[in-house]
Amino acid sequence: MLKKGVLCATCGVQYDETGQTPDRCPVCADERQYVPASGQRWTTPEALAAQYANEFESLTPGLFSLCSTPKFGIGQRALLLQTPHGNVLWDCISLLDDATFQQIQALGGLTAIAISHPHYYSTIASWAEAFDCPVHVHEDDRQWIMQPSSRLSFWQGDRLDLLPGVALHRLGGHFPGASVLHYPTQKLLLGGDTLLVTPDGLASFMWSYPNNIPLPATTVRAMGEALEALDFDALYCAFKDSEIPSGAGQAVKYSVERYCRALESCQMPGPR
Ligand SMILES: [Zn+2]
Repeated sequence: MLKKGVLCATCGVQYDETGQTPDRCPVCADERQYVPASGQRWTTPEALAAQYANEFESLTPGLFSLCSTPKFGIGQRALLLQTPHGNVLWDCISLLDDATFQQIQALGGLTAIAISHPHYYSTIASWAEAFDCPVHVHEDDRQWIMQPSSRLSFWQGDRLDLLPGVALHRLGGHFPGASVLHYPTQKLLLGGDTLLVTPDGLASFMWSYPNNIPLPATTVRAMGEALEALDFDALYCAFKDSEIPSGAGQAVKYSVERYCRALESCQMPGPR
């Protein structure tokens, strides 16, 4: 079900079919990703379909994750949120096969796709065309689109009301347009990797995750202020088990403080 065009095997982003394989993947050449020491690798939609399958998992009522197995590219998951006004796919994965399409159709199809940032652009053009829906990408990250499509919708500013009761909020940080999805009805926040859950059940923020390059404290404080304005109790981020099922609002607030203190003074804020 994927359009023609090579995919970067490291980040999973698909390139427009031109008849020529690009020299390099600009997404991976950027310092927020990486080109493997062994060099740039490409794959094809056919090889992807032959080697991988997608697994569905129910996370909480109305929220499913789908992730390719074995791990492909960055290894992120996409989240499918069911609402009375239609389903949203938050972030995306490269593989779209018949089984995945049928399973999503059985869950009610997709009304919209929205992407947190360029590392998960993957094969969004194919997904949007297969499900006959728009894919919302922040205007500030437009330069990272490698496969144009008439289904792409570029939003601007700090907030987009995607469907009734579902809003995207631009927090920036990792990318200028890096966003989160807020569903206040269920006090849910879908974070992508605009923020990521840490092994101790808190959250962190990075400019480059693979290369461990942090964000300035001023940026993270501003992100923290934007997050404090959102009422959420559960946080689901871009990877399996990267989630805080309850108490996430307080955990994130503390996490912002911890992060900024570490950068500014190394004096930790004390017990939670
Ligand atoms: Zn890449």
